[in-house]
Amino acid sequence: MRLTSAQTDRAAGVLLGQAIGDALGVPYEFGSAPLVPGHAELIGGGLGGFAPGEWSDDTAMAACIARVSATGADLTGDDALAAVAQGFVEWIDDDPADVGMQIGAILRDVATLPHDASAAVLARMRQLSDAAAAQDKAGNGALMRTGVVGLVALDDRERTARAAAAVAALTHADSRCVDSCVLWSEAVRVAVIERRLDVRAGLDLLPEERRGQWETWIDEAETWTPSQFAPNGYTVTAFQAAWAAIHATAGSREAYGADHVEDALQTAIAIGDDTDTVAAIAGALLGARYGVSGLPTDRARRVHGWPHLRGRDLVGLALATATREQGAWPQRKTMRTGFNRPLAVPHPADSGVLLGTEANLDQVADPRATAVVSLSRVGTADIAAAASATGKHVEVWLVDSDSPDGNADLAWTLRDAARTVRRLREEGETVLLHCVAAFHRTPSVALAYARLIGVDADTAARDIEAVLGRRIGGRLWETARTMPL
Ligand SMILES: [Mg+2]
Repeated sequence: MRLTSAQTDRAAGVLLGQAIGDALGVPYEFGSAPLVPGHAELIGGGLGGFAPGEWSDDTAMAACIARVSATGADLTGDDALAAVAQGFVEWIDDDPADVGMQIGAILRDVATLPHDASAAVLARMRQLSDAAAAQDKAGNGALMRTGVVGLVALDDRERTARAAAAVAALTHADSRCVDSCVLWSEAVRVAVIERRLDVRAGLDLLPEERRGQWETWIDEAETWTPSQFAPNGYTVTAFQAAWAAIHATAGSREAYGADHVEDALQTAIAIGDDTDTVAAIAGALLGARYGVSGLPTDRARRVHGWPHLRGRDLVGLALATATREQGAWPQRKTMRTGFNRPLAVPHPADSGVLLGTEANLDQVADPRATAVVSLSRVGTADIAAAASATGKHVEVWLVDSDSPDGNADLAWTLRDAARTVRRLREEGETVLLHCVAAFHRTPSVALAYARLIGVDADTAARDIEAVLGRRIGGRLWETARTMPL
């Protein structure tokens, strides 16, 4: 279906939001590192000895689904499901550090089959999944990877539900696992299309006899305190923990902006136990509600994981799944518009920040800039390889538009971009801050950054106009000048 630019932003945020939650929760899974509630950081570690910012099984398995859904394949059909199953086997063959018990038992068995026999792999996987369900096993391993399924049929809730059920049943055939995936995937779909958080939206998609039970479980999640949902290896408790964390932190935050994402993820992780999984589940839905523009950039630039992907790759997989367009941004080689006037003038309040245009991307190898903050879209070949590989290349989802619909939460996005510049400066980097032509986006973020480091708004605005040699106006500039920091 054709998405509005706001819906595109939100669809693009699903896997990235999941990855941020996953990587943020990993260090603390099952108490591996002590946590001061509210202060989870991307420090790595966890049960799998992960690198800082590295995601775990939850997002790796979601990526297996996404690589198939991004081709436009129908996830309710056996061909696509066999391809997903094959992806799971590839992942287990790579000997991941941290695998859930139910998934591990199934995949290690299936991995002994000839890998090219995809129908046999699918059949055996389902057989083992049914056997686990018969033993009353209902782990959270299907729910943790279901967010992206909410993108496969954005205009068709029934098909979304069928896909969620089919993908869940590959490894978790128990009805509680399947139902939790149907509800969460539908909540993701609704968040992308309607910009609202509602895990009850899919209740009517469940078999009638199970709806009442799920209403009770959701009511509990909204009335008990989040910390009561531990342990949470069980799919129902994981669902409740993720929703409790989102619901308990919504309040005025949701009306105000995307700080809700950070609050909810911190709350999810503070619940304890399977912290990465609960935060991954929550993160997918939060990403669907707030979009890439509402996800913290400094976290987004750090996430990476199996199979050699970074945040922008997840954005690409989510967008290809949602739009069925192949090879669009961010997979495009170049997004250059042909604007050919490089600038790179030092920021008047901090000479370690260079204000530039897209033409400056040619000069990133120039030792003057060691990190890049792109405020306009860039292609795979536009990015300096070094900055990209080290996570020192940051892309901010900021639309150059005077329309109130242009950016979901403009002040939040400008603040977040300015904080990211400050963070890179604290890391000792010289930052190239650029958009296409440095007309609106670059000066506006430069202004927000100047205010963040203590320059008063009028002085900063005047000095930035002076170094760029022109008067600047418009909604982005006015917002950067007047917004609370
Ligand atoms: Mg995990």
